[in-house]
Amino acid sequence: MGTPRSDREAQAAEVLDRLYEEYPDSTISLNFSNRLELLVAVVLSAQCTDERVNEVTEELFEKYRSAEDYAEADEEQLAEDIYGITFHNNKAGYLKSIGETLRDEHDGEVPDTMAELTDLSGVGRKTANVVLQHGHDVVEGIVVDTHVQRIARRLGIAEEESPTKIERELMELVPESDWQQFTHLFISHGRAVCTARNPDCEACVLEDVCPSSKLDGDVDLASGEAWG
Ligand code: SF4
Repeated sequence: MGTPRSDREAQAAEVLDRLYEEYPDSTISLNFSNRLELLVAVVLSAQCTDERVNEVTEELFEKYRSAEDYAEADEEQLAEDIYGITFHNNKAGYLKSIGETLRDEHDGEVPDTMAELTDLSGVGRKTANVVLQHGHDVVEGIVVDTHVQRIARRLGIAEEESPTKIERELMELVPESDWQQFTHLFISHGRAVCTARNPDCEACVLEDVCPSSKLDGDVDLASGEAWG
């Protein structure tokens, strides 16, 4: 089992240092060219891969160019236009409703506050954080997706279970200047090495500081259960 640094703050700093080195170009992998496209892509990406979202949005963004376009869309047609995305029917409803709210209350623009963003249909704190960071250069928190949730627990940096509570923990431990990159680095590592089902601990740059390492540890701290 790897030996973590003396406290969780030091552990977070060590992990970040190594991941910055390992993934120097880590950034958001959704394609977009303006704030509306960003918002739409992030809403579509809930429980869906970024790769699939990028495939679908290539044509979607040609067809729907403004908040008004989504507001006036036929919902069934919109669902068809995002077919292939997880929960496409629900998400078509979200996009239409978002289009209406942006048109009616925000002059067709994507708002720049957490409160206004989370008032939109299908937009939770995680989505809002991504839009604020990449659309408005406003960093209000740390995006905790499934990779961040899993790996922060595996590494003994986070102890809570829910994304909201983990975000609060991380904001105490991680310097604000690293909040945005923290997520991208953890996602890169989660995709490349520390996957959900079969992490490649042998190839991991964090192995010697990871209390969950499969090489000589028994328990996956992400779940609290023995490695399968
Ligand atoms: S790949 Fe293994 S050693 Fe690396 S962070 Fe994940 S569980 Fe720990």
